[in-house]
Amino acid sequence: MPIHISIFVPLRKFAKMSVRTWQNDAYKYVILSVLIKKMQHFIFFIGILCMVFRKDNGKIFSTLQSKKMLKKMEEIVKQLNNTFSNKSTEEVLKYFLKEYKGEIGLSSSLSYEDQVLTHIICSIDKTAKIFTLDTGRFFPETYSLIDNTNMRYGIHLQVYFPDFKRIEEMVNEHGVNLFYESIEKRHLCCQIRKIEPLKRALKGLKVWITGLRRSQSVTRKNMKLVEYDKDDNIIKLNPLINWSEDDVKLFVKKNNVPYNRLHDKGFPSIGCQPCTRAVKEGEDIRSGRWWWEDPEHRECGLHQRN
Ligand code: SF4
Repeated sequence: MPIHISIFVPLRKFAKMSVRTWQNDAYKYVILSVLIKKMQHFIFFIGILCMVFRKDNGKIFSTLQSKKMLKKMEEIVKQLNNTFSNKSTEEVLKYFLKEYKGEIGLSSSLSYEDQVLTHIICSIDKTAKIFTLDTGRFFPETYSLIDNTNMRYGIHLQVYFPDFKRIEEMVNEHGVNLFYESIEKRHLCCQIRKIEPLKRALKGLKVWITGLRRSQSVTRKNMKLVEYDKDDNIIKLNPLINWSEDDVKLFVKKNNVPYNRLHDKGFPSIGCQPCTRAVKEGEDIRSGRWWWEDPEHRECGLHQRN
């Protein structure tokens, strides 16, 4: 057989076979192309999602998760408020101290209110965590009160200090009394001296007890007995939320609770020495704190971080 016939016969056969196979499978390609056309929006959407997730490093997913958790915590807090809003302070504290033993703590500023809470807590469970944040700028009277409280109740208030390196940097850059210069500098000082140590103190806790009262200031009028602090992912318990100033003073007197002697000298609310002054009779009780600022700004950030 001539050479050209021996090559072209099988080639022709193959070509014919391929065309036949293609004809047999044609309907499959038609269906596939219709499906792709129908699903093109879906495929496009999935592609965009993949790109976003890759770029976002999964942040969207965690945002969705934290939204779900926030909703769940809001429901828990709502239930707790419904259950305990008509109970006495002692009843509320008894329940929470038992239910969250080892995971609950009082942050005490050594105020009248925190001394009342220390008294009640110690009558229920002396092992409960009670801590204070020593900013390094306290009044001498406040330091004396730490000792007096420890002696009276047979406890050891846990004292948290700021990071000395950050204090050094701040003071060397802005001066010792930077807080008078601007709100930003005041917040920086509160952040370093109070908020960072607070975060350390709250680590591992599920419930944070505070001595906040609704009538203390304009910034506290909407507070509830139980709140969820999403910044620290913790339940905030404010057992004195409905107490008046007179209620607090009466309790202190009746129970001989140790208190800061500055209260007798016209200081209704006591914080750091350079940021607190005495107020006149009838003046707002928080007006002696950061008195050079507008009332809406007079929080240190411990309870208002949003
Ligand atoms: S209250 Fe004043 S001194 Fe104390 S941390 Fe805040 S700014 Fe600093």
